[in-house]
Amino acid sequence: MKKPVIVTVDDEIEVSNAIERDLRTEYGKEYKIIKTNSGREALETIRELKQRDDQIALFLTDQRMPEMEGTEFLEEAIKIYPNARKVLLTAYADTNAAIAAINKLGVDHYLMKPWDPPEERLYPVLTDLLDNWRSNNRDSFEGVRMVGVQWDPAAYRIKDFLARNNIPYQWLDIESNTEAKRLMEIAGEPKPDLPYLLFSDGSTLTKPENREIAERVGLQTIATEPLYDLIIVGAGPAGLAAAVYGASEGLKTLVIEQQAPGGQAGMSSRIENYLGFPVGLSGSELTHRAVTQARRFGVEILSAQKVVGLDSDGPSKRVKLQDDTKLLCRSLLIATGVSYRKLEAKGIEQLTGSGIYYGAAMSEGESVKGKDVVIVGGANSAGQAAMYFSRFAKTVTIVIRGQSISSSMSQYLIDQIKNTSNIRIWPETEIKEAIGTNRLECLKLIRKNNQDEDTIPASALFVFIGAVPHTDWLGDQVARDPHGFILSGTDIDTNGHFKQKSATRRAPYMLETSSPGVFVAGDVRHGSVKRVA
Ligand SMILES: Cc1cc2nc3c(=O)[nH]c(=O)nc-3n(C[C@H](O)[C@H](O)[C@H](O)COP(=O)(O)OP(=O)(O)OC[C@H]3O[C@@H](n4cnc5c(N)ncnc54)[C@H](O)[C@@H]3O)c2cc1C
Repeated sequence: MKKPVIVTVDDEIEVSNAIERDLRTEYGKEYKIIKTNSGREALETIRELKQRDDQIALFLTDQRMPEMEGTEFLEEAIKIYPNARKVLLTAYADTNAAIAAINKLGVDHYLMKPWDPPEERLYPVLTDLLDNWRSNNRDSFEGVRMVGVQWDPAAYRIKDFLARNNIPYQWLDIESNTEAKRLMEIAGEPKPDLPYLLFSDGSTLTKPENREIAERVGLQTIATEPLYDLIIVGAGPAGLAAAVYGASEGLKTLVIEQQAPGGQAGMSSRIENYLGFPVGLSGSELTHRAVTQARRFGVEILSAQKVVGLDSDGPSKRVKLQDDTKLLCRSLLIATGVSYRKLEAKGIEQLTGSGIYYGAAMSEGESVKGKDVVIVGGANSAGQAAMYFSRFAKTVTIVIRGQSISSSMSQYLIDQIKNTSNIRIWPETEIKEAIGTNRLECLKLIRKNNQDEDTIPASALFVFIGAVPHTDWLGDQVARDPHGFILSGTDIDTNGHFKQKSATRRAPYMLETSSPGVFVAGDVRHGSVKRVA
């Protein structure tokens, strides 16, 4: 297998040699290091690499160069390799340019010169970025190979599941990939159903459920103990944070997740408002870090396991899983988050998963290359998705019912959207119909003010409207508000539900639900801020 490439750009020969030396020492075994001395030379090189189908993992470029500045080079380079990580080497005087480039170009990091000692000031940053690049660029891996039809909802579900669990996979489209056709021939008759998954040990699965995949790739799906100090339902940011704190305080902690760790945050292309990450980080990076941290403290995380019931009477709480397993715990934390409300319009239901998606799957970036993408919704999640897909798509249209995005979206995202030429906003507009035979082909939109209709081409529609809490499984075990969000602490009528259940007749703690010993955190909690923090 070809090594992925790291490209360096610096016009000062001595600096350029020093970077090359340091990179070779640390990364030479796994990456090919290519040194160039100007933006122009680097662009020629990467065009050649593209033609040879080589992968570029990272650009490390000096900012101040006479012919073409580092940021100018990156602007061109990311058109060719949008997924490569981008690092600027700057002098103190260039920090403003570097910070501006973070916003404009999505630069991942800026490093100050000199970077000695590299063990402290260069490698930690680059290793982090390269690890992240690896886990997001599965083509470069020997992992699961998956043959399928691009617009098949099952293929989408499995890709999403593999990606969000950080399982390397290679997607082989049966309609366009010769390797896919070859693998189907080898499989013989009768032809396996699609999606068809081939694992590195030679075993295969046809159209599998997530649970079967989880078991095959060695994810934990069964708890090791019958009783835990703390069980957490949901492995989004709230659940994972609680797991880290619970386990680090010595509690035997189990997290149960119906899909993959990360929750909604796993869909975020770039979280820029989380403390301690000045250049932002993607939801998958945050998840990867949180999962590693939790496991270090001994947390068990079950994947592809849904909790379907709770019995919270008595000192031990009992949760029931979809496969009928029952587990006990002394305290329970509900961190099941929310999901997007369904979009009601003709054709939406039939094409969901075949071009229409709830939330944004980062794994779909490549599939919308050069195509028209539509996003419904005006909140930050929609804005981030627009920015992300604008790197791949020909056009991105944001459709909102309101007059503008200014009341619902953070200013930093509004600014980024304004500066991105292939994004347009259609205010006071609604989706009237989704049209397509086997997959989404176009959308009929209706303008609210004059009822004018437009039909626009659309290969993908990503929906980000309103939130519905995941609380159906709770029955009457905990008190909820009229929208289904869970009440906690002083929001519960302390003379009501809580006291009847509590033998101690104390008031509920902060974040404690109406059922003593059952806590709630994150988006599913009544009155929460709907942020990672
Ligand atoms: C695209 C996007 C971009 C965003 N960007 C930002 C941002 O930049 N900054 C920011 O602060 N916030 C952002 N947010 C919001 C942020 O991601 C959420 O506020 C946060 O993820 C909420 O965390 P949570 O743990 O409460 O719930 P979630 O992230 O929703 O996680 C809940 C988890 O529980 C699991 N679950 C649900 N029911 C069950 C069950 N019965 N059994 C087992 N598991 C279950 C779900 O599968 C899910 O994994 C963004 C959200 C989206 C969608």
